[in-house]
Amino acid sequence: MKDIFLCSICNVSSGACLEDCAYCTQSAKYNAKIERYRLKPLEQILQEARRAADNGALGFCLVTSGRELDDKRVEFISQAAKEILKEGLHLHLIGCSGIATKEALKELKEAGIASYNHNLETSKNFFPQICSTHSFKERYETCENALEVGLGLCSGGIFGMGETWQDRLDLLSALQTLNPHSVPINFFIPNPALPLTKEVLSKEEALECVKLAREYLPNSRLMIAGGRERVFGNDQEELFRCGINAVVLGDYLTTKGNTPKEEVERIKGYGYSIATSCE
Ligand code: SF4
Repeated sequence: MKDIFLCSICNVSSGACLEDCAYCTQSAKYNAKIERYRLKPLEQILQEARRAADNGALGFCLVTSGRELDDKRVEFISQAAKEILKEGLHLHLIGCSGIATKEALKELKEAGIASYNHNLETSKNFFPQICSTHSFKERYETCENALEVGLGLCSGGIFGMGETWQDRLDLLSALQTLNPHSVPINFFIPNPALPLTKEVLSKEEALECVKLAREYLPNSRLMIAGGRERVFGNDQEELFRCGINAVVLGDYLTTKGNTPKEEVERIKGYGYSIATSCE
């Protein structure tokens, strides 16, 4: 029986990003109706980490909005990681703070961060249509930097932003060259504030994307993330049959997810068990 890995997200800072990613409600350019705050108090982060571990999550991803992993973020995420590890929580800690140099990533690793999440998002050719403030190359290099300093790599993308099937194949080929241990699969969620005006993908098209991802990345943990509820509602069994073996548990960065209890019951109802080890 396949074990399903659960990962919780902690949105450490939200909104006010000066980048212009056309799919992202955290960009200050679009004025989307989201909660905005700078750095969450450490005690709140710790509470979320305890809750994630209680709910059965093995992964805990500390996410900050913004372009890059600057000194301030390095310091804060390192401090948060140390505090979480001090509690002896059985969590694999993941950093996610945008474009990052090897030096900054090394510091996170020394503080106890085990992996870095940085999504390629889409193909190299399509990328300029969804972002003008940074490049695909910068994203790819950050992923390489994470691998070079010995961090685990979590990198995936978003489907349904108007990209062609060839773009999808190109994204998956690029991910193949990085061989991430985890690959988040997101589906674009429309929002009236965003410049991107695509409809949500049909279930059939979304499943084809998952099948392709599994074919291209047979050894990666394929994690279903944002947009899952919008595309599939409560009818998610097929996702697991098509190769999904990891799930984002609870809320996403700016959108609500199902409750962890509902999620775990659903997965068990499909006949899968919850992973109890990161291996
Ligand atoms: S850099 Fe990150 S937080 Fe900023 S707009 Fe792009 S995806 Fe959103």
